[in-house]
Amino acid sequence: MKRVLITGAAGFIGSHLCDRFLREGFHVIGMDNLLTGSMKNIEHLFSEPHFEFHHHDITTYVHVAGDLDYILHFASPASPIDYLKMPIQTLKVGSLGTHHLLGLAKAKKSRILIASTSEVYGDPLIHPQVEEYWGNVNPIGPRGVYDEAKRFMEAITMAYHRFHGVEVRIIRIFNTYGPRMRIEDGRALPAFMAQALRGEGLTVYGDGSQTRSFCYVNDLVEGIYRLLHGAYSLPVNMGNPDEISIMQLAKEILDLVGNKEAYIDYRPLPEDDPKVRQPDISLAKRLFGWEPKVPRNEGLVHTLEYFKTELGK
Ligand code: UDP
Repeated sequence: MKRVLITGAAGFIGSHLCDRFLREGFHVIGMDNLLTGSMKNIEHLFSEPHFEFHHHDITTYVHVAGDLDYILHFASPASPIDYLKMPIQTLKVGSLGTHHLLGLAKAKKSRILIASTSEVYGDPLIHPQVEEYWGNVNPIGPRGVYDEAKRFMEAITMAYHRFHGVEVRIIRIFNTYGPRMRIEDGRALPAFMAQALRGEGLTVYGDGSQTRSFCYVNDLVEGIYRLLHGAYSLPVNMGNPDEISIMQLAKEILDLVGNKEAYIDYRPLPEDDPKVRQPDISLAKRLFGWEPKVPRNEGLVHTLEYFKTELGK
């Protein structure tokens, strides 16, 4: 039986990865310090004989007994308000945490997949973003703590690959959504859903013309599974190329929820907020035959069901 360590296991994407790898017949070791993750996301797994949970902060030494075939590194605060609140932890988990896991991968001869981000492209000057683009990041801006931690993460991962021969996989994740996102994590999609369900104003920052491309979590998990088992060591973009403005997203959510009391509430645009973002996924298509399958209208319905339950609506 193959054994996989998943960090950030109690988080949004991490918990979906635990589900998937258990379904595929792996022994899953989930690790999380519960800084932004929640036990609720994995409590359904505690009856699984092949799931174990380690409450641990990977910025300190990481010990795992026994063999380890794969490591999936998904631990990090990941929403802008989280990393603004926890700048030092964000920098540490991307740097020290990644270093510990690379050391573990080297010692155990595991293949390691690390979760990087479209944020490495910053406020991009080319559109859509291809993997060859080096990015436009403000290192000392409010997002710098996340962007630079992830850029360092890619650098140290490639160094372990080139210098120590560790088998590495790097995914650059674009905006992803689905059940188990935290309502209060401040990101546009959960914020708008909660606000619409509560009959409040949907807080659109700026004029809402900035764009993002939203990928349903199951599509992303499929991509991660293929990337891990593929033979490509350099970064690969994964996300849904279907790009919309934040205003259009707000309107779609208003229509879907159908709460007449909800409305659009314009707020100031945060500093260094990227104006556009859309992945070029030709590389993932060519390498793995991967592309997202779940259209937004379908993904939004599944996600809304989750938030309705969470909010008791
Ligand atoms: N945004 C918004 N209202 C919110 C939260 C976010 O208009 O309540 C905007 C934000 O300024 C950005 C976009 O929505 O332009 C996506 O933000 P999010 O925090 O979801 O993730 P990002 O892609 O910026 O990391």
